[in-house]
Amino acid sequence: MIPESKYEAVIGLEIHVQLQTLSKAFSSDSIEYGALPNTQVSPISLGHPGTLPMHNTAAVHKAIMIGLALNSEITRFNRYARKNYFYADLPKGYQITQFDTPLCVGGNVDIKLSNGEEKSIRLTRIHMEEDTGKSMHDQDMYDTLVDYNRAGTALIEIVSEPDIRTGDEAYAFVSEIRRLVRYLDICDGNMEEGSLRCDANVSIRPIGSKTFGTKVEVKNMNSISNVKRAIDFEIRRQAEILDSAGLVIGETRGFNGLAGTTFSLRKKEGVTDYRYFPEPDLPPTVITDEMLVSVRASMPELPRVMFSRFTANYGLSDYDASVLIDDKHSAQYFEKIVSHTQQYKQAANWVTGPIRGYLNENALGIEEFVLTPTQIADILSLIEEGIINHTSATQQLFPKLLDTPNKMPRELVDELGLTTVKDSSFIEDLIRDVLGNFPDKVQEYKNGKVGLIGLFVGEVMKKSQGKADPKSTNELVRKILDEA
Ligand code: ADP
Ligand code: MG
Repeated sequence: MIPESKYEAVIGLEIHVQLQTLSKAFSSDSIEYGALPNTQVSPISLGHPGTLPMHNTAAVHKAIMIGLALNSEITRFNRYARKNYFYADLPKGYQITQFDTPLCVGGNVDIKLSNGEEKSIRLTRIHMEEDTGKSMHDQDMYDTLVDYNRAGTALIEIVSEPDIRTGDEAYAFVSEIRRLVRYLDICDGNMEEGSLRCDANVSIRPIGSKTFGTKVEVKNMNSISNVKRAIDFEIRRQAEILDSAGLVIGETRGFNGLAGTTFSLRKKEGVTDYRYFPEPDLPPTVITDEMLVSVRASMPELPRVMFSRFTANYGLSDYDASVLIDDKHSAQYFEKIVSHTQQYKQAANWVTGPIRGYLNENALGIEEFVLTPTQIADILSLIEEGIINHTSATQQLFPKLLDTPNKMPRELVDELGLTTVKDSSFIEDLIRDVLGNFPDKVQEYKNGKVGLIGLFVGEVMKKSQGKADPKSTNELVRKILDEA
């Protein structure tokens, strides 16, 4: 039995989003990922005496965007603070962050669970800060090495209220944030490379209890499914402690992805340990009405708005619309197809079916897809006009087109002789062949097993190598069987 069944989990997430800016938060150092270690560090990033940080306005704009997208209140007068602690990856000995004036206050993330249920998770705050360097424990036999390239990169930290109750809800929450930052083009959302990072605060309490239990903070999850796994493990671990009358210790724990377990890292620091004080080297950032107007105007359409538009304007089902908008580039590709054709449902099916299948197999994004939306629209018209059928379109035309992407589908259909055959004498011959091969089945059909029609039609389609038109074949098979 799962011991957690008599407990309820309480979860709050802290998500760090690395902002995709050209330079760092407070210096002009580049932030290119994967550059040689310690090549993107100036004395400012290292906090050498006499250097002064400067604001990166682009980072502030991107941070406002996410706040607006999540219905937060934007703070107009923003102070910066120093969070002091000693660690090798923190070259200045402090991190510039925001303490008493987070850029965004409140807001919410609406999530949809796999069972269709919806829930709104409240946000506490979103603040701006800078990233640390990176300790590399696996580059040298004896020593830990430090790469400071990342030090000073602009980050935002999104802090949720403890409204999340299950690993699945946390999964949906992080997925929604990732989708949003990708739509807004402010971060690539890559958890493996660490441009999106999630810490999970987890506690449990007996069902019905109103007070919170002691929380544990879990770090180092490099994928969204690992966030869920870490939380699920942590809930079980804490439940077992409470079941054996033990006490959960408030601490920071790491996650071991291979074992699927968490392990103790350190005792939790309190706020006083950080000796926060106002950053003396940076003037406050004031957000004006004009800035808000211009940031708002530069924002792309948000996924939820796109979802409503896709269901309302194109008559797509909730399912089709949500599969499409899950990835912004797929949604945009779909919209380009339907600017050439009104076959909305079929266009959606192509994007989420054969196209996505091909891309997944080849580990490509739709941005890298060789076929243009015009070519896909052309395939759809060929099918609509009855020139080819769906089977030969997906199984013959599509693969050929991928091999010769500079051709238009219409040309290829002629070259490959894929045109659907409507000529009834050709099809009738095939039908007679097929019926001749299955005398027993013909008898069974005549005795009332009418479902066998599918078998006959299928065989005829096979013999015609997909060229027979399914609808007229179906009619002809019936006719010939009734006459026989
Ligand atoms: P700390 O001072 O330890 O950093 P905060 O109050 O700042 O704690 O909260 C950090 C995160 O932990 C937030 O996402 C918050 O929702 C969550 N949280 C707070 N208390 C609990 C709890 N008892 N159980 C689970 N999560 C909690
Ligand atoms: Mg905190």
